[in-house]
Parts: sequence; C-alpha cells; structure tokens
Amino acid sequence: MQLHRQLVVALLLPEAVRADNTMRGGYPIIQKGRYAIETINLEAVQLDGKRAFLRVSEVIIANTDHTAEELHLHSRVANLIRLWEARSKLPQDIQELLGRHEELVRGGRPLHHESEQVIVSLQALLSDQANDLGIAYNEYTDSLPALLELLEVQIAEPEGRVDDIEPEQAELRRRTIREWKKWAAHRGTASANFRRRVRAAYDSTCLVCGKRFPPTAHNRVPGVDAAHVLPWADYDLDRVDNGLCLCKLCHWAFDESIILIRHDGSRYAMEVSSLARQIIIESRPDFSLDVFEKLAGPISLDRLPQARNEWPNPQFLTELLRVLEE
Ligand SMILES: [Zn+2]
Repeated sequence: MQLHRQLVVALLLPEAVRADNTMRGGYPIIQKGRYAIETINLEAVQLDGKRAFLRVSEVIIANTDHTAEELHLHSRVANLIRLWEARSKLPQDIQELLGRHEELVRGGRPLHHESEQVIVSLQALLSDQANDLGIAYNEYTDSLPALLELLEVQIAEPEGRVDDIEPEQAELRRRTIREWKKWAAHRGTASANFRRRVRAAYDSTCLVCGKRFPPTAHNRVPGVDAAHVLPWADYDLDRVDNGLCLCKLCHWAFDESIILIRHDGSRYAMEVSSLARQIIIESRPDFSLDVFEKLAGPISLDRLPQARNEWPNPQFLTELLRVLEE
C-alpha cells in the first residue's frame, strides 16, 4: 500500500483521493474523497536491514481550490494516543475498533486493506450511533474530532471547581457528577443494547417493506435501524416492544410522520399519513410517495419477532398517534 494511504490510516483520517482530478471541491478539507495528501516531508530515513524507518516532519493536504493546509501532525498524534488510552470510556463496539486500530498502527508492520476497513467500520458505527450519543457526525468526515467530543461528553464535569462551592453544596455537586458520569456511560451501552436487541428480534428485516440487511463480515453495521416508537428523549423506553426495525428509507418516513403504523385490535397496518400527503403534494407536486403508497396495508405477521412480547406495543403506537394529532 502506498505511503500516503498508510499515513492516512495511521492518523485515523477518512479516505483520501489519489489524483487531483478525482477530488471534489468545497470545504471542509478533511472529508472522505475531498482531499489529497499533497506532500509528505521526511525528516530522516534510516535503513535497518530490510526495513526503512521514515520520520515524517510535515504533511500537507489539499483540496480542489488548492488552498493547502498543514496537518498538525504532533497534535493529531497526541490526540490519537489520548483517544487510544481513554477508549474504555467509549461504547463497547467503538472501543474494540479503536483497540484494533492501535494494535495495527503500533504493530509497526505495513498497514494494509484491513486497517482501512477498521476506519471505515468506525466511521459507519459512529455515524449510525451519533444521534444516540449526542454528537454531530456523518461517515464521510474526520472521526477524530467526533471521538474526542464523545470522550469529553463521557468525562465532562459541570463548570466550576468543587472547592469553590459552599461545603454543603460540594457533596451534592460531587454526587451529581458521579451520577451524571454513570448515566452518560450507561446511556451509550443502553442504546447500543436496544439497537442490537431490536435488530436481532426482527432478524434485520424492515417491518414496513420487508427488506433484509443483516451485518456481514464486510459491513459491521446492518442496513436497518432500531427506531423508537415513543421517542427516547421524551419517554426513555429502551424496550424491544417500543422498537421497530426499519430500513433507512422507512425509518426516515416514519420519523417524518409520512408513514404511520397502527394496531386495530387484531393486526398491524401501515398507512401513508393523509395530512403529510396533502402538504407534500401541495408544496412539491413532483415528490412521489408511490414507494410508500404501494406498501400501505396490513403488515404480514412473518415480519414480526418470534416472541409475542417483542411485538410493537399497541398502547405505544396509539400514544404516538395521539401525540401526532395534537
Ligand atoms: Zn423499509
């Protein structure tokens, strides 16, 4: 693998492009396929038998408008090491990938395709969980700042030092910090568990359209989401019967209240919201809802989980419809 690709992997950067003419324009620079490593300046090359040790002093990256930017190698490496060292504070699956990354980079062997795959998986996982983790991230961007932000979220403490506070308040503050940390750590794990259990219950199959996108050796992240019926932020219900397994498209339509899921006492059914249909047709006549209209109707029982207590709770579905009508 070429030197620039190895460097990209070692520094946990998103994939760079090889040739200037395949770069897409615009800021920010460090985005997948939007920048190239322009120059790698070497301070020293040492030869030792069959191996060469390269000491990199400067890396210049560029995008299409040719504004070159120096990548601050020292702080990048320092932050990366900090991240490796504190990774036990992060959710399990992210932890494992960071551990693998450290192992490969510190292993001192040339980095191959597997290491690139580790970063791609990490980016996909992070983007998949960003909402639940309370960070803004998409898989085409640099994951390091997002991971550092996540670390801050996990270990952050409220402003003000404990010593500056009145003694009787200090204990309260200490307790709050402890509770808060515990909650933050628990929240990451709880939502990861929720997703895992919902996807497993539905065998990675979308309840609305029946498409199945399980994880494989290639994609660690399945193509289906675990959606909350009653939003987690308001109800805090991480139960499988408050979950629906939906593909990305159906999840979007469900979250946007374009499609509704009802239980009429004996069966589940999906319908396109007449309110949404009306507003959409009025504002964008070219926006077709056909893909959902075709799926509307009773939901086949074989798409539901095997265990009946994991089926979407009719009370939660009704409550959601009530809230939406308000
Ligand atoms: Zn679907």
